Amino acid sequence: MILPSLIVAGLQLVAVPPASGDSLRGPALPVRRLAPGVYAVPGDSGHGSEGRPNAGFIVTRAGVVVIDALASPLQGEQLLRAIRGITAQPIAWLILTHHHPDHHFGAIVFRRAGARVMAHPDTRVVAGEIGPDALVADWAHVVGLDAMRGFEYANVPDQPVATADTLRLGGRTIVITHPGAGHSAGDLMVWLPVERVLFAGDLLVEDGVTMVVDGDSRELLHGLDLIEGLDPRVVVPGHGALPAAPAPLVARTRAYVTALQAEMRAAVEQGVPMQRAFGSLPPADETRPVSLNSRRRRNAVRVYLEEERAYMGLEDSEP
Ligand SMILES: [Zn+2]
Repeated sequence: MILPSLIVAGLQLVAVPPASGDSLRGPALPVRRLAPGVYAVPGDSGHGSEGRPNAGFIVTRAGVVVIDALASPLQGEQLLRAIRGITAQPIAWLILTHHHPDHHFGAIVFRRAGARVMAHPDTRVVAGEIGPDALVADWAHVVGLDAMRGFEYANVPDQPVATADTLRLGGRTIVITHPGAGHSAGDLMVWLPVERVLFAGDLLVEDGVTMVVDGDSRELLHGLDLIEGLDPRVVVPGHGALPAAPAPLVARTRAYVTALQAEMRAAVEQGVPMQRAFGSLPPADETRPVSLNSRRRRNAVRVYLEEERAYMGLEDSEP
């Protein structure tokens, strides 16, 4: 197919000036204050993992820390415009909760604005297996070519966080942890211990059906344990409405994962072939890889394989 490479070439040829206050495209995204100086930028709600993800930012006396860069340079600029509506502080850091395109394809906007990038060093995701250029071309079909104008990859961290790190900046304490590879190998959570606010990335999604295709369901449960241990006052899921209280969303996610594990374990132990094991689930939606049906179906495949490996003794270590 020739089209994708043409699109990529087109993207690379478009020169984009560094984003300053008035060169930013699009209207500012709406902002929700979670605590003094701590903001969520809520994305779409009611669509599970689809649509614009949630992002956030923390204003300190020594600059702004942005959490996630959204799905395109256009969305990144809209996010930066929202930040500029609150503060003129320089953008010090961009922390990426993981390496799925919808969370970091706007990262170049923040790097051009002066941010250093903090992220997990493992940038691999299944979607990226088609190669970086093909992924960009594919993604342009999702968000639109115009939204991708000026795109460059900017998710390789200046400061990698493989296990945990604490950022002390301008009077704030920001704890960045890798909760295990639950949703993806490069998951990070951002925790504000003073304000008790947690940015959970895609470990949590509004409908409780976290995708584990790029991760591991057992590690996701470990991540949920960590979240419960923190006892956050406010949690910002990767996608969808912020829950009124964190605990029920964590519990709902745990119930979904443990039920799926039990179902697939029973199927494996009874010798039920994979296709029959989740034959009751609706098929995945072909053009919507993270719709609810697609997540449930694709997770079932992943968890069946996990249980099969465990049953055959191919895995010796639980996370
Ligand atoms: Zn994700």
